Amino acid sequence: MPSSSSRTSGAAVKKTRVVAERKPSQELNPFALAQAQLDKACDKLGLEPEMRAVLRQPMRELHVALPVRLDDGRVQVFQGFRVQHNDARGPCKGGIRFHPAETIDTVRALAMWMTWKCALMDLPLGGGKGGVICNPKEMSSRELQQVAREYIRQIYHMIGPDQDVPAPDVYTDPQIMAWMMDEYSRLVGRHTPDVITGKPLALGGSAGRQDATARGTVYTVREACRHLGILTKGATAAIQGYGNAGAYTAQLLVDLLGMKILAVNDSRGGVYSAEGLDPAAAVEHKAKTKSVVGTPGTSPISEAELLALEVDVLVPAALENVLTGHNAGAVRAKIVAEAANGPTTLEADDLFADKGVFVIPDFLCNAGGVTVSYFEWVQNRSSWYWGEQEVYERLDGRMVRAFREVLATSLEAKTDMRTAAYMVAVQRVAEAIRLRGWLEPRSGV
Ligand code: NAD
Repeated sequence: MPSSSSRTSGAAVKKTRVVAERKPSQELNPFALAQAQLDKACDKLGLEPEMRAVLRQPMRELHVALPVRLDDGRVQVFQGFRVQHNDARGPCKGGIRFHPAETIDTVRALAMWMTWKCALMDLPLGGGKGGVICNPKEMSSRELQQVAREYIRQIYHMIGPDQDVPAPDVYTDPQIMAWMMDEYSRLVGRHTPDVITGKPLALGGSAGRQDATARGTVYTVREACRHLGILTKGATAAIQGYGNAGAYTAQLLVDLLGMKILAVNDSRGGVYSAEGLDPAAAVEHKAKTKSVVGTPGTSPISEAELLALEVDVLVPAALENVLTGHNAGAVRAKIVAEAANGPTTLEADDLFADKGVFVIPDFLCNAGGVTVSYFEWVQNRSSWYWGEQEVYERLDGRMVRAFREVLATSLEAKTDMRTAAYMVAVQRVAEAIRLRGWLEPRSGV
């Protein structure tokens, strides 16, 4: 696997601290999970060993060290990554996470899932992902900006509108995208809004990008309810994680489908209301106190209790490995809508299949984000901007089409929705690889 690393000399380092990467256990290693999921789909498809070998590894990855002067005068060296899993269908696309528990294997898994997500949504894009090991909760705005700009300085030769187009993910936001776009534009000497998506509207962001992931999730929940014969009005939901994906999903489940949200949580704790809580009140409370805990009119609930609530829809919307062999048996939801990437381990998947829980797999359920990111890239490249309704309608059409393709494959191949989603996506990527001739013998070269 080609891999390289780089480092700038930076200012004189007075006192440095290097934040080391944590190694995930093999059982919960997201990259091992992503490869195992792929293997299952390849078996179903009877894919040739050479193709599997290509698909199981990222094509390219870059490891960088980012020296940044902190507000207290010390220099801290942050570790960062950019991984490009596969670009057979077009430039890589994928978010950048700023998280203290980031690992290279998490980024590899997320890059691979992006390849399947873009293919499943039939976008002319491949899969990439980035991450920096840092804790934005403990950093000032100036420090965050320094990390964002240094990260771009170190990876800028690997990204670009026709190569690899990043976007926001966990603990990164439109402001961070704006700094990154500005840094890239300075480096290449021209305004380049199409190098990154999820930007603020004033800098070429798309209408509807902010809640796009959640909106796509809600459209797939609507389709799943239709398929299972569940009336959405008055149906119940619980949401684990209350950031961009979780909080907007809660609000849109209420606004678009008339559902009741019984419980939500974040990294500091959870809240419950039997009558259904007000998602906007929880957002307001979190904005003031940094947590949903204590939202007026709610009582506390633990994460284990939230995941085991008797609800129609359970939405994991935080991080990986939340639903495992240890707790999946206790889940009583009819539908698990994976707004988060990789929330369900293989063991939990098997338990859900046994129990008849309908899983909307992550790279279908949360594909609204990359779909509107693709719309943003298209608008930037044509300098022609669409209205909100146009974005919603185009997104709805794409989500419904992908959902129906996966459902039809799942029924036809008598397999679960995740394996079916893999089958649709992997076939598309494999077709592009074959058409490009990547697996042909190179005679005379
Ligand atoms: P975010 O940073 O906006 O929010 C993350 C939330 O998760 C926060 O509320 C945090 O408190 C919560 N959280 C963290 N650890 C938790 C724990 N142990 N228990 C409960 N809550 C916890 O991030 P986001 O953009 O909402 O991303 C969430 C998930 O959605 C990730 O898996 C991400 O990859 C996925 N996703 C996001 C997008 C997007 O456009 N933002 C697109 C596709 C997928």
